Amino acid sequence: MEKKQFQAESKRLLEMMINSIYSQKEVFLRELISNASDAIDKIYYKALTDEQLTFEKDSYYIKVVPDKETRTLKIIDTGIGMTKEELENNLGVIAKSGSLAFKTENEIKDGHDIIGQFGVGFYAAFMVADVVTVISKAQGSDEAYKWESEGTDGYSIEPVQKDSVGTEIILKIKENTEDDNYDEYLESYSLKSTIKKYSDFIRYPIKMDMSSS
Ligand code: ADP
Ligand code: MG
Repeated sequence: MEKKQFQAESKRLLEMMINSIYSQKEVFLRELISNASDAIDKIYYKALTDEQLTFEKDSYYIKVVPDKETRTLKIIDTGIGMTKEELENNLGVIAKSGSLAFKTENEIKDGHDIIGQFGVGFYAAFMVADVVTVISKAQGSDEAYKWESEGTDGYSIEPVQKDSVGTEIILKIKENTEDDNYDEYLESYSLKSTIKKYSDFIRYPIKMDMSSS
């Protein structure tokens, strides 16, 4: 297993985001679902030009799986997946474009929920989770990797077994505090209403087993 540090700027931004008083933590789900949808788009466009690939619409979906027993929430997609390098490059650096820095600064200045209106991306997961695990197998690769991070301390990466192409994000949902209740992110009915609110336009099916909680 390799242990790596986040880049300095990423670390600062991440701390700012996690620590900033944030009214709509639930938008993390919109961000993860939009990433899952983007990943399915990528495999779809690849299938248009790659004769080896066929895009069977039914086999592409996003699945949201809450589990109160283990206090985990999984967001699973059958998209294009990430190689080891992509896990490192895409999840190990925040705000390559500087747009997150802009958004974060502006939110702090005028107190408006600018983050809530624009995308914050993958790191929004740390608003509700102590540990974020990403298990991914890239299309065209035989190997799968597990990326894991507790936030500001960097991340670990190691090979794992995964049969199907795609990505599984596992959030270890935070314990409740006096000020914040995180249990709703494990309740299927409230997850469902968050999905309806922010992700209604997603073109792929978003599945959730309603009997799980
Ligand atoms: P953005 O979506 O604006 O690029 P994010 O922080 O949301 O920024 O995600 C960073 C990158 O991580 C994405 O551009 C993508 O390359 C990769 N990524 C995140 N989630 C997934 C996923 N579920 N499947 C494949 N790649 C992903
Ligand atoms: Mg995104």
